Amino acid sequence: MTIRNLHPFREQAFVGGIWTAAPETVPVTDPATGEVIAQVPHLGADETRTAIDAAAKAQAEWRHRPAGERADLLLRWHGLMLEHQEALAAILTAEQGKPLAEARGEVLYAASFVRWFAEEARRIEGEVIPAPRSNQRILVWSEPVGVVAAITPWNFPAAMVTRKVAPALAAGCAIIVKPAPETPLTALALAALAEEAGLPAGLLSVVTGEATAIGGAFMASDVVRKLSFTGSTGVGRKLYEQSAPTLKRLSLELGGNAPFLVFDDADVDAAVEGALLGKYRNAGQTCVCVNRFLVQDGIHDAFVERLRQRVEGLVVGRGTEAGVTIGPLINARAVEKVEQHIADAVARGGRLLAGGARQEGLFFPPTLIADVPRDALVASEETFGPLAAVIRFETEEEAIRMANDTEFGLAAYAYTRDIGRAMRVAGALEYGMVGLNEAAISTEVAPFGGIKASGMGREGSRHGITDYLELKYVMMGGL
Ligand code: ADP
Repeated sequence: MTIRNLHPFREQAFVGGIWTAAPETVPVTDPATGEVIAQVPHLGADETRTAIDAAAKAQAEWRHRPAGERADLLLRWHGLMLEHQEALAAILTAEQGKPLAEARGEVLYAASFVRWFAEEARRIEGEVIPAPRSNQRILVWSEPVGVVAAITPWNFPAAMVTRKVAPALAAGCAIIVKPAPETPLTALALAALAEEAGLPAGLLSVVTGEATAIGGAFMASDVVRKLSFTGSTGVGRKLYEQSAPTLKRLSLELGGNAPFLVFDDADVDAAVEGALLGKYRNAGQTCVCVNRFLVQDGIHDAFVERLRQRVEGLVVGRGTEAGVTIGPLINARAVEKVEQHIADAVARGGRLLAGGARQEGLFFPPTLIADVPRDALVASEETFGPLAAVIRFETEEEAIRMANDTEFGLAAYAYTRDIGRAMRVAGALEYGMVGLNEAAISTEVAPFGGIKASGMGREGSRHGITDYLELKYVMMGGL
């Protein structure tokens, strides 16, 4: 395995094609040990404006490159990501904490967006519309939106970057990424690989540092025509507001509060497998992670007991240790949130069946609470941690009502073997994504995104590139 330019960690930001240091730095810590593993530059509005100017220059040329050339470049980047899978996974686990096996999986998932959008680049097609008069022709084609800003979260340090960068570049845009302060190293490593792939300077920048200063420069700029943000609903709302003066296009992938419905007729083993994956992946720190298990009376006890047995088999530890399935949480705030939801559910009568108390450092054991009342905090707020809360229900209508009783609308899951019920429930759930007898819903080939307070826009699939394109309609007369 060659790790050429990825190790030691990149401690410079990538601004307009130039690796840039700064006198002031921000520490990056390993959540498994609390150790500072690197320092990245503390940059602000000035460097962001430099990146925006460079992006505008680079994009003016890039947009006219033949689609096949843009695709080939993305495919070279994809190849390098695969070649460096192990090194990228090591960086990812070091700064984010997830088990190495999950980190390797995330690198493949991240690379899959690069390949997908390389393929899509060559299929950005237009239309000819029958015109109202015989001497007219109407053409419709797509053009890149221009310079794009991306603000990404810490829970998928690789995939959230490529899910935005790949469609932007494929569409003919330039893009500036502000990675999460917790996980800038993966984003910088990806930029190093893009540079090695031959990406022209300025098309991709990664600016580390002060979130509000970098975000502020993005939002104030007339040149930045679009923002793609993944993160909390609170910050998403602020950015929505800040985008008003320049009327930017927005893609917002925000919080969720995923319900997981298990009906009496479900395959209980399949439901338990789905529950484990849907709840405890990345220690519960994904926006599509199950927040509430809604389980019908008749299957309730069997489901809870089997889930309890499987939860006991999960292994908490450092992501670099073999066999570990649950790494540390990202920070102390995350641990406190889980504790708060557990204390609240138990105080309201919930039965604690596994886990429940924090361990050393940022480690938290997988926790299971049954008989959680419907007014518990966990029923309405996103936990973002390894707490499975089970709420009992009797009828399908009741389950749907509870499932939809949230401001969020990202992902929902339902387990049933009745095909009529499956279709009814999928239709009634007010969510952007529904897993029917399936908890692994994230794939580059399908449109990922939410409704209501979970945001707007779709990432992945052929729809994911349209967020980076504007339609132009041309009426030709006097023919
Ligand atoms: P979390 O609470 O999970 O960290 P956030 O929504 O706070 O989620 O963070 C997601 C991303 O948004 C991160 O890159 C973070 O630095 C960035 N961010 C947070 N606040 C702002 C802001 N006011 N302006 C721009 N970016 C921000």
